[in-house]
Order: sequence, then structure tokens, then C-alpha cells
Amino acid sequence: YNPAMQNDTIAAIATPQGVGGVGIIRVSGSDAFSLVAPLLRRPSREDIPPVPPTHQLTYRVIIDPATQEILDEVLVAFMRAPHTYTCEDVVEIQGHGGPLILRRILRAVLAQGARMANPGEFTLRAFLNGRLDLAQAEAVMDLIGSQTEVGQRLAMQQLRGKLSDQVEQARTSMLGAIARIEASIDFPEDDIPTPQAEELLPFIEEAQRQIARLLAGSEQGRLYRQGLRTAIIGRPNVGKSSLLNALLRIERAIVTPIAGTTRDTVEEIANLRGIPLHLIDTAGITPTQDPVEQLGVQRSRLAAETADVILHVFDGATALTEQDWQVAQELRAMGYGEKREGQATRRPVVVVINKADCEQVIDVAAIQSLWQGASLVQTSTLTGEGLETLENALAELVQAGNVSGNESVLITSARHQEALRRGAEHLNAAILSLGQEVPLDFVSIDLRAAYDALGEVTGETASEDLLDRIFSEFCIGK
Ligand code: GDP
Ligand code: ZN
Repeated sequence: YNPAMQNDTIAAIATPQGVGGVGIIRVSGSDAFSLVAPLLRRPSREDIPPVPPTHQLTYRVIIDPATQEILDEVLVAFMRAPHTYTCEDVVEIQGHGGPLILRRILRAVLAQGARMANPGEFTLRAFLNGRLDLAQAEAVMDLIGSQTEVGQRLAMQQLRGKLSDQVEQARTSMLGAIARIEASIDFPEDDIPTPQAEELLPFIEEAQRQIARLLAGSEQGRLYRQGLRTAIIGRPNVGKSSLLNALLRIERAIVTPIAGTTRDTVEEIANLRGIPLHLIDTAGITPTQDPVEQLGVQRSRLAAETADVILHVFDGATALTEQDWQVAQELRAMGYGEKREGQATRRPVVVVINKADCEQVIDVAAIQSLWQGASLVQTSTLTGEGLETLENALAELVQAGNVSGNESVLITSARHQEALRRGAEHLNAAILSLGQEVPLDFVSIDLRAAYDALGEVTGETASEDLLDRIFSEFCIGK
């Protein structure tokens, strides 16, 4: 990694933009102490050192060294390497949490010669300096972004190194086989016997079992991190928006408003037994002539197309309309409800017949034949009837709440899943080669490839591109 970038001293505001009780400026690098020291007004008392002792929070007055103007009264911590977040010298300045104050302090630090930190650069340094491996660094971001307690727990386990430990165990198993092969290749004259397949297989098979165990819960794990995109679809007036609000209410939801929502689609997050349930309320997906509505239809269709699950909502108090059929047809064209051989519904639809508090006139049998095999729930957003049943249906669909005890490690990232799968494939190839008695060099190549694939999880074999991609998604100051 670019070593020049690593040696300079970086600074950033580490707290979110906006007004808060406190705001923190973080500085890291070999010059952190000497760059910040001129910002501290000299204490009047002789017995107070100009630079505070390491790892202590001290009250100080911050000045602009250029003008001597007092910028803020702060608590400041000077932290000497290596026991810091980045393993470098770190200074954290806790000022009053106003954006202008923080920017002025930061500007003064930059004027002393610090460089503005890139997104995730503090954590990148922690990784490059060996304090965190890559899976742990990714866990930092997952932890910050976690939306349910389960998600938080999984991220914390990963940050504590539990995933890395298990990946390393699998790599150690592989190394048992690799070392035996390579010793016999490298030192044939030392009478190291060529290892037999029976001797190598137990190591490879053990690694395979370890990878399989990790992959077993990975689809589930991804849901806990990424959430379940659930689009609420149906013709106008059946109660889609009411349903969204009702589900949020009974969920005692986290309810995060999501930036960029429009009048046409509204997205909110509820907590479905630990899985962040992204509920998307859509305006309409059936084609329309009205140019104003067309835009809304486009957005709604996109939401429908990219959803994991569809809630197709009907109004139980009225007969089925042409529009209900049209909506179903559109969904079917997107592949919803389509059956695959030997599988459950590929893209699941849950049928919601709303307004159960009113006299029911809708033809339920007709809907059942329309969405064969789909769960069907009758709800009333007025009385709350059926909402829990609807939740259960969704939870069952994705087996929410199935995360076992605190010790379990769950793969939550597509990147890790992909690397483990690649590792497993190489191991299979190695076993195949062993059975066909091809030269051991070839077996060794596959074993090495598997070993490296798993190394991408912990970052031991990660490329610069990969690191850039991962850390650029962090926020500034982390
Ligand atoms: P949308 O167009 O599908 O989003 O439907 P809305 O959520 O805006 O609801 C349309 C109308 O149906 C409103 O007047 C709601 O008050 C009413 N409504 C929604 N859910 C229910 C229900 O469960 N029972 C009854 N009786 N009315 C409902
Ligand atoms: Zn609506």
C-alpha cells in the first residue's frame, strides 16, 4: 500500500455533521502531537505541562496559533502509539458540538501541516498497522451501520475476531497438507518421503468441513446485515400506506427515514426478529397514460423489481377489479410467484387481504388460484387484526429469529461468502486431483489457491483495489 500516504499525519471531524453536545476532531500520525500542541494555550500554572500526559483527558483552551484567537474550550486526549485506534500517535479534541467551531479547529490543525483524512483512513491505518484484520475492519462499519440488535451482535463478534479465528483454523488445516507436499518437493534429497493421499486427505477434509460450517448460515447472515426488501404493491386505495404504518407501529420500529424517498415510494425500516425489514410503499405499477403518474409508476416498478418479497395487497371489502388482475400480471412478468423445480416459490409473494373489519365480498378462492402456494393473510389496519400473522408469514419465509446463541459466528458479507466458496471449490479440485494421482505440484497449486482465497477474508492476501473499495465506503473520521 502507498507508503507515502501512510507516513503523513491525518485529521478529520469524527462526529456527524450538525449540532451536538460535543464534537470530536481526530488526528493520527507521527506528527500528531507536535501539530496539535501549538493549538493549546499555555497553561498559566507552572506545574501543568504544555502537552498533556498520554491517555488522559485534560481540559484545555484551543487557540488559532496564527491569530491567538480563542476558538473553544475543550477536553483533549494525547495518546502515544501503539495503544491507540490506529497504532499511531493520536490526538482527540472534544470541543463544543457546533459545525463552525469544529471546522475552525480542524482548519487550524490542517494549517499546522496535517492532511485531511480520506473516508475510513483511520481504520485503514489500524488495518495496515496490524491492529485489526480486514474482517474486523469491515465489522467496524457493520457495527456503526447495524439496524437491529442481532445485526449489532453479529458485527461485534466479527470485530472481536471470532470470524477471523474460524477462517484461520481452516487455513491452518490446509497448511497441514501444503507443508507436507512442499517439504517433499523442496527437499527430495533429504529423504522426505512423498506424502500419500491418505496422509493429506484428513487435513483437506477438515478444512472443507470448517468452510462448510461457515457457509451454512451465510444466506441467513446476509439478511441480518442487508435486510429484507419488501415492496407493498396493489391497486390504489386497498390500504398499502395504512399497512406500512400499521406494521411500523406494532414493530416498535427503529423507523429510520431514508434519504431520497419521494412521494411516489416511501421506504421505512422495521425490525423483523432481528432482520431489518425494508418496507417500501409504492404508488402504482400498472401502466398509465398520465405523464405525471408515469414517473411514479417507473419508481414503483423499480422497487417491485428489486424487492426480495412482495406484499400484494387486496381490498377484502370490494370485489376483485380489473386493476387487481393487472397488478398480478405485472408482478408475474417480473418473475414473482414463479415456481422452480424442487424449490419453493422463487420470488415470494405474500397475499394480504386488507379491511378485514368490513364485510368481506372479495373472491378469496380466485386469489388463491392466482397466487398458488403463496401465504395469504387477512388484515385490518384499523383493528390490527392479522398483522402479527403477516409478520409470522414473513419471518417464516426467511427464517428470521433463527440465530442461535451468542457464540455462533455467522457470515454476513457477500464478499466473505464468495471468498469461502472459492476456497471450497479449490479444495474440491485438490481432492479430485489426489484421487487421480496427478503430480503433487498440481494438488499444491489448488491448496495454495484455497489458502489465498480464505486469506482475502482476513485481508492477508487482499489487493490494493479491494482495500480501496472497502475503505472508501466508510465515513470520514472513522
Ligand atoms: P393505498 O392507496 O393502497 O395506500 O391505501 P391507503 O392506505 O391510503 O388507504 C385507503 C383508504 O382505505 C383510506 O381511507 C384508509 O383509511 C382505508 N383503510 C386502510 N386500511 C383499512 C382497513 O383495514 N379497514 C378499513 N375499514 N379501512 C382501511
Ligand atoms: Zn398509498
